[in-house]
Amino acid sequence: MPIDATAAYDDSNIFARILRGEISAKAVYEDDFALAFHDIAPRAPVHVLVIPKGAYVSWDDFSARAGDAEIAGFIRAIGHVARVHRLVEPGYRLLANIGPDGGQEVPHLHVHLFGGRPLGPMLAE
Ligand code: AMP
Repeated sequence: MPIDATAAYDDSNIFARILRGEISAKAVYEDDFALAFHDIAPRAPVHVLVIPKGAYVSWDDFSARAGDAEIAGFIRAIGHVARVHRLVEPGYRLLANIGPDGGQEVPHLHVHLFGGRPLGPMLAE
């Protein structure tokens, strides 16, 4: 069910629970600003979600409210995960779904990192 990206942050969401350690995830990277873990329903050979540690609903919320260090840390974490998975040379795709038209389902900002095969057209028709 797509979420409202303008709603207040709800800390019962599944990624908040992963950050609190209440639900396990297959983590691939963690630092002060970000956690990266395998998507539970992978759509590509590599399908990793990268989330900021702060409480942000969406890219809109994050880009408006997060501090410079949080933003830099999050972006650097995404780049690091791609490099560690050796995706830079073959290429990869980043995707952030935002709000109802974006099809966002989990109301904690996350960037999908897809790779490991040619990914085809940018959008499903
Ligand atoms: P989105 O449509 O961008 O909000 O995508 C949410 C993503 O979260 C989907 O790709 C789900 O497969 C993934 N997901 C949901 N629950 C979990 C979980 N417990 N661990 C890992 N990934 C999850």
